[in-house]
Amino acid sequence: MFTPDQPRLRNWINNEFVDLVSASSNSTQYIAVTSPYNGKVIGQVPVSTAADVDQAVAAASAAFPAWSSRTIKDRAAVLLRFHSLLTKHADQLADMVVLEHGKNKAEALASVLKGQETVEYALSLPQVVQGKVLEVSRGITCADARVPLGVVASVVPFNFPVMVPMWTLPIAIAMGNTMILKPSEKVPFTMTKIVELLKEAGLPDGVVNLVNGTADAVNALVDHPDVKAVTFVGTSHIAEMVAQRCHRLNKRVLALGGAKNHMISAPDCNIEMTSTDVVNSYSGCSGQRCMAATVLLTIGRQQELVDKIVAKSEALKAGSRAGEVGPVIDQASVDKITRYINEAEASGARILVDGRPWTAEHSEGFWVGPTVILHTNKADRALHDEIFGPVLSILAVESAEEALAIENSNPYGNAACIYTSSGATADHFIKRFNAGMCGVNIGVAVPREPFSFGGWNKSRFGNHCDITGDGGVEFFSLRRKVTTKWVPQANASWMS
Ligand code: NAD
Repeated sequence: MFTPDQPRLRNWINNEFVDLVSASSNSTQYIAVTSPYNGKVIGQVPVSTAADVDQAVAAASAAFPAWSSRTIKDRAAVLLRFHSLLTKHADQLADMVVLEHGKNKAEALASVLKGQETVEYALSLPQVVQGKVLEVSRGITCADARVPLGVVASVVPFNFPVMVPMWTLPIAIAMGNTMILKPSEKVPFTMTKIVELLKEAGLPDGVVNLVNGTADAVNALVDHPDVKAVTFVGTSHIAEMVAQRCHRLNKRVLALGGAKNHMISAPDCNIEMTSTDVVNSYSGCSGQRCMAATVLLTIGRQQELVDKIVAKSEALKAGSRAGEVGPVIDQASVDKITRYINEAEASGARILVDGRPWTAEHSEGFWVGPTVILHTNKADRALHDEIFGPVLSILAVESAEEALAIENSNPYGNAACIYTSSGATADHFIKRFNAGMCGVNIGVAVPREPFSFGGWNKSRFGNHCDITGDGGVEFFSLRRKVTTKWVPQANASWMS
C-alpha cells in the first residue's frame, strides 16, 4: 500500500511546499488524517489561517499578469504535458486515493481518469472559445472575447480527492486564471502529488496553489478582495453558506451541494440490467457519491426485482479490489449511517440486507456494508436525508404519479433515473423529474465531458451555470465586446 512520504503536509505556494505562516510546534495547527481501511493515522494536515491565504493569494496575483497574457494555446501546451504525466502516474495516484479515501482500486483509478477527462476538455479550448465576430452595421464590427477573471478559488469535498478538483482546475487555468485550491482536510495527500506533476509539466510558479485547512481558510478565501470567484463542492448547508457569503460581496460563486437521488422502476424494466445498475448505483464508492441513487421507488411491488437486488447486494464483499466495497470515510460516518438504519428499523421498515455487522467484523477502520431497507412508512428519515453510505431505501408506490410526486417533493435536485423498456415511459419521466441530471436505465449519470455537471434546487447554489464543460468556460471567464469602425460612412445615423 502507498505510504505518504511527507506525513506532515505543507501548503503549496509558488511551486514549493511552505510551512504555515505562524509555523510552530503547536499541534493544534494540524489535523490527523486517517486511512479508512484501518483507522491508522497516515499524516497531519495543516490548518491554514487568513495569513496563509494571504500568502497564496499574493503568489497567485503575482503570477496572473504573465500567465493570462500567454496565448490559450501556450497555456494548453502545459496541460498537454500534464495530461501525459497523469497517464504515467495514474496508478500511483489511484493508490493514494485508495489509502486516504477508502475507494477500491478500480474506483480510484476510474476517478483519476475522470479527472483526466476534464484536462482533455481544457486541451480543446483553443479550438472552441474564439467567440463571435460580426459586421453589425455598415463598416462596424462587433467581436467578443473571453477574458480571465484573475485569482479564483476552489473548495472541494472528501469524496473524490482528484476528480472533483479536476472539475475546475484545468478549465480555470486554461482560461488564463490563477488559482487556489482548498482540498478536503480528510483527503489532502493526492493533490500534493498533482501539483508536483503540474510543476513538472512546466506550470509557472504561483499559477496553482494549495491551501489546506477548514472553515477559516474557506472564509478567508471568500472574503479576500483579490479572489474574484469561488467554486465550492460539499454538503448543501455549507454550500448555501458559502454562496450567501459570496453574494454579500457580489462575488461570482458556484456552490454544488448534496443530493438525494431517486430511481423509479417501471413494471416493464429489464430486471437483470436494472438490478445490477441499482446495486452499482447505491453501493459503488460505498455510497459516497453525490450521484449515488439511494431511493428506489418501484411501481407496484416488483418482487422479482427486489429479490435480485437483495441477492446481488448480499454477494458483495468488503475489500479494496475491483467489485469489492470499501470502507466509509470516518467513524462519524459509520455512526450516522447506522443511526439511519436503526431508526428505519424501529419505525417498522424491513432490513432486507443488513450492513451493520460489517462494523464489528472489522477490528480496524470504518466499515458499514451494503444495506437494503424496505420501507412502509413514507416519513422514514432514511427516505429523505442524504446518508452518504451504501444504503438503499426501497418503497413500493401505486402509480407513476405517486413516484413522481415523491421525487418532485425532495428538496435536492441533483439526479434521477427511470428504469423502463419503453421510450414513451422514459420520456414521460425525464420531462417531469425535478433534477438536473437524469438517467434512462443509468442510476449514476456520471460527469462526462463536454457536458456540464450540476444539479438543481438545494443541490446547487450561486448565480452561475454548471461546473465543467461550457459551464466551466462561462464561469471562469468574463466576456468583453469590442465594437470597431475604421472607415467613415456616408449618411451614418447613430445606429450605423
Ligand atoms: P463538507 O461540506 O463537509 O466539506 C466540503 C468542503 O468544505 C471541505 O473542503 C471542508 O473543509 C469545507 N468546510 C467544512 N466546513 C466548512 C464551513 N463551515 N465553512 C466553509 N467551508 C467548510 O462536504 P464533504 O463531507 O467533504 O463532502 C460530501 C458532500 O459533498 C456530500 O453532501 C456530497 O453530496 C457533496 N458532493 C456534491 C457534489 C456535487 O456535484 N453536487 C459532488 C461531490 C460531493
